Amino acid sequence: MRDFYCQCGNSIFFRNTRCLVCQRQLGFAPEARIMTALEPLDATRWQVPAAGRIEGRIYRRCQNYAQYDICNWLVPDESPHHFCASCRLTRTIPDLGPPRHLELWNRLESAKRHLIFNLYQLGLPIVGRAEDPDFGLAFDFLADADAETEFTEALAGRDPIATGHANGVITINIAEADDVARARMREQMGEHYRTLIGHFRHEVGHYYWARLIDGGAWIDEYRDMFGDERADYGQALQAHYDNGAPPDWQERFVTPYASAHPWEDWAESWAHYLHIRDTLDTATEYQLVRSPPWEQDPRDFDALMHRWTHLAIGMNAVNRSMGLADAYPFVLNAGARAKLDFIHRVIEPFETA
Ligand SMILES: [Zn+2]
Ligand SMILES: [Zn+2]
Ligand SMILES: [Zn+2]
Repeated sequence: MRDFYCQCGNSIFFRNTRCLVCQRQLGFAPEARIMTALEPLDATRWQVPAAGRIEGRIYRRCQNYAQYDICNWLVPDESPHHFCASCRLTRTIPDLGPPRHLELWNRLESAKRHLIFNLYQLGLPIVGRAEDPDFGLAFDFLADADAETEFTEALAGRDPIATGHANGVITINIAEADDVARARMREQMGEHYRTLIGHFRHEVGHYYWARLIDGGAWIDEYRDMFGDERADYGQALQAHYDNGAPPDWQERFVTPYASAHPWEDWAESWAHYLHIRDTLDTATEYQLVRSPPWEQDPRDFDALMHRWTHLAIGMNAVNRSMGLADAYPFVLNAGARAKLDFIHRVIEPFETA
């Protein structure tokens, strides 16, 4: 994540809606990919002040800001839309009747905007349902249990909501936005890491597998490395939940769950690739990492891994000093690294285009 600056010079963050120093309104301009200060123009329109790349442009606030105060992205004034580029990807919002749902939905949209920003940075195509009704990207945020009980009690008459991906539609159970419920699920699943942004990165990995790998030029190399995804998915998942990961998973997979099926291996590896790229980007922005002295090309995969290993070890040590869990509780074995390198090569043409 980038460090952004207000018109007044104050450092501002991706989630901000107002500068705490000069009190200017702030918003994120998706098409320019920057946070910007705003001057009021009239009741609904805002103008970017002088200086900077998008000087003078006129925007409206996303309707989810006006109505619910949960979005800081902007809509260009000439756009026919009321919602921003991120909110337009949400197909279903949770029932806002239960009082806690608004805050949980807010967290989901915030994590989603972070994801979309990362996808913009990597130059990856984002095709929504409006353009591709059958396979376009969309998000359903749904509840199947009572938020007031930290999601321990099922809601009457609701089917269980499984977080997952199908034909471009990513479903997230809003219980994942509840810290207590998510920690309990992490314990039950025996995981070391479970976050909202992690869910978004994993599930969007399935979307990109369908777009970038399925039936394309990479499919043979994918199958050599990850296995044949035509293996029965339902049976493979059941076997994983019954028997757990194979004893040698730590030599081949990034996580135990990655061993369940070649699709899950891809999605887990994809999520880690996005973790690494975004966290390195943030650390570089705050001058916490240095390039290895032999580095010629900052996009070189080995140099990327060198910087990441150094940063991950440092972050974990710093967290331990604060009495917190490891920030990156994983070891990247040779097999997992080769898969990350593959994803790096798949993404490269988009990023450099
Ligand atoms: Zn300011
Ligand atoms: Zn929005
Ligand atoms: Zn998955």
